Amino acid sequence: MSVDLRADLIAAAKHFYDRGWMVGTAGNLSARLDDGSFWITASGRPKGQLTDQDFIRMNLDGDIVEQPVSESRPSAENSIHLAVYNSFPEAQACYHVHSIEAKLVSRLTAGNAVPLPGIEMLKGLGVWEENPQVSMPIFANYLSVPKIADEISQAFAVSRPAVPALLIRDHGVTVWANSPEAAYNYIEIVEYIFRYMVTASQVILFEI
Ligand SMILES: [Zn+2]
Repeated sequence: MSVDLRADLIAAAKHFYDRGWMVGTAGNLSARLDDGSFWITASGRPKGQLTDQDFIRMNLDGDIVEQPVSESRPSAENSIHLAVYNSFPEAQACYHVHSIEAKLVSRLTAGNAVPLPGIEMLKGLGVWEENPQVSMPIFANYLSVPKIADEISQAFAVSRPAVPALLIRDHGVTVWANSPEAAYNYIEIVEYIFRYMVTASQVILFEI
């Protein structure tokens, strides 16, 4: 972990941008400091060219506590990060990207969770079972992001998901982890699983 967490977030955003998962200004990344506050990408910044000025530090009440550029605003989706950190106190980083595959996977079911394939890569999300049967929760997308965040908070207050990730339908995926490095890996893994699912939806698989 870097001394300044923003370096981790800048490097991750550049990589996700290069993969086509944070096109233009899409998506937002955050990581927590020891005092519980978190750096989050500022609204409207190109994700392939972030600098340490392109962040805002917020506390868990949603107040801005540090702002390198006075006119900058936190990500419009900061309420989703707040919902995640308040639901999972152990989470130290929360990454949210807008990939095409995440949107398509959210349409593989009309329900509120999509079953994940029992492939080896699930181990990377902490699922160590024979023939695992786990799902990723799906939340509705609303123009009002706090409404999405409210539904996430309500759902996770009742039950924790089997994997540290959630989908917002037709929108994107969010992961959380105990370090920026782990959140980076989780994004890589969920995107791999999504590519598998989109490809598998186009071919006939034998039951084994
Ligand atoms: Zn988003």
